[in-house]
Amino acid sequence: MSTSIETDYLVVGAGAAGMSIVDELLTNGDPETDIVLVDRRHRPGGHWQDAYPFVRLHQPSVYYGVNSRRLGHDRIDTSGPNAGFYERASADEICDYYQRVLDERFLDSGRVTFLGMHDYRGRDGDDHLVVSQLSGRPTPIRARRRLVDATYVESIIPSRHTPSFAVDPAARLLAPNQLVHYADGGDDFTVLGAGKTAMDTCVWLLELGVDPDRIRWVRPRDGWFVDRTYTQPLDLAANMISYQAAMMESAASAASGLDLALRMEERGMMFRLDPSVEPEVSRGATVSRYELDLLRRIERVVRQGNVSAIGPDRIQLTAGSLPTGPDVVHVDCTAPGLANAAPQPIFAGDTIRVQMTTLGVSPWSAALLGFVETLDLADAERNRLCPPIPRPGLIARQLEILAIGLGIEPARRANAELTGWNAAARLNPGRSVADHLDEPDVQAAMATIMANFEPAVANAAARSAAA
Ligand SMILES: Cc1cc2nc3c(=O)[nH]c(=O)nc-3n(C[C@H](O)[C@H](O)[C@H](O)COP(=O)(O)OP(=O)(O)OC[C@H]3O[C@@H](n4cnc5c(N)ncnc54)[C@H](O)[C@@H]3O)c2cc1C
Repeated sequence: MSTSIETDYLVVGAGAAGMSIVDELLTNGDPETDIVLVDRRHRPGGHWQDAYPFVRLHQPSVYYGVNSRRLGHDRIDTSGPNAGFYERASADEICDYYQRVLDERFLDSGRVTFLGMHDYRGRDGDDHLVVSQLSGRPTPIRARRRLVDATYVESIIPSRHTPSFAVDPAARLLAPNQLVHYADGGDDFTVLGAGKTAMDTCVWLLELGVDPDRIRWVRPRDGWFVDRTYTQPLDLAANMISYQAAMMESAASAASGLDLALRMEERGMMFRLDPSVEPEVSRGATVSRYELDLLRRIERVVRQGNVSAIGPDRIQLTAGSLPTGPDVVHVDCTAPGLANAAPQPIFAGDTIRVQMTTLGVSPWSAALLGFVETLDLADAERNRLCPPIPRPGLIARQLEILAIGLGIEPARRANAELTGWNAAARLNPGRSVADHLDEPDVQAAMATIMANFEPAVANAAARSAAA
């Protein structure tokens, strides 16, 4: 056994969440605090390191990363599919960014040790055990303050997951990552999955000139999506605040999550791909009108449930089957993306179990947890300020999620330190609204929000309790 290490915080997981928390502990924590950051992967960035090459952030880079360092150039794209919107980083940019944050901020501070290619194996008496994946050497680590578990809601992505269905050796199944190496021209594509990865894959195929008739989309469930126009910060923040106002007004009287989505659709702020199908799912994904128009060109949509097996000449689905063959490339977009872990108290004794505590935007949520850890508070108060917010999923549960996410706001606003931090936090998507308060449409949206905030929380809480 190698020499043991003692540290204040042992942070497991150097994805967006773990990196955000370490950044906050360095900025706002006791200046003597030291940290050991451990990850199975060789460098920071989490799932982005294994993402499909044509992925981009789904949100603007402006509010992604860690609080202390800008990601990108806060630039509005002037050409291409993202024209008119703030830039969205590619996976390469995100990984490079996190590497620089590690090298130039964390390691240069002299207060952080990074153990890449190390697997956290759990507790071993008073210590925690991490094991090198290369040498097999175990290292016991004693955390004087806390273990920060930034793996509890780890992302599950296509290139690292095992499909839940059997695949005949004669059938061709690729992860989206492998599509960029594809060179067999002339095949048909069957895209499996209903989420954002499947949409990105379809958009990528269509943009590169694949005829929509050659794409068959096995879409077990349809989803609700937010129009990307309304996720824009800085100079375009008026749109974001008008979305919040519409959401608040709708939530004040919506009878259900579905009713809420229908009202937002009526205002042109939320979309579904096929207006004749009522989607059951809303996972907070954003889509532009450009992407929506492209995706609607795919007419061969199969709604017969999940894939249960791919044979040499048929795909078995939970509610039917389809012909297939050697000239069909199946693209596996069935990984769940967000882990569906049961909500747990976040601050629990000697552990911080990182989960979402804001309505969306993982890095902001994690940074908030890091900041709250540095405040002089009892854990009961930390947990009151930071309840775990369930990941969005079934639209039927959307009011319950809003009731928790909005319901916590008054308590947060009553804490002056937290309010001050949030107003300055680069990762807070709504931060720039304060710079536009002299604009009449922003003033009108703010008035709508204020008038509807309490009714929205009360209605969402009452409807979700009744459900
Ligand atoms: C394609 C895609 C696009 C997305 N776009 C956005 C977006 O625009 N905005 C947004 O807010 N969110 C987005 N998300 C959600 C995304 O999950 C978060 O942004 C964020 O990257 C999640 O970070 P994480 O640290 O929680 O998880 P991960 O990135 O999964 O990191 C967890 C880390 O823990 C490590 N780990 C796990 N177990 C162990 C162990 N036992 N020992 C050591 N290390 C371990 C893993 O190796 C991994 O590096 C997107 C997700 C996907 C898949």
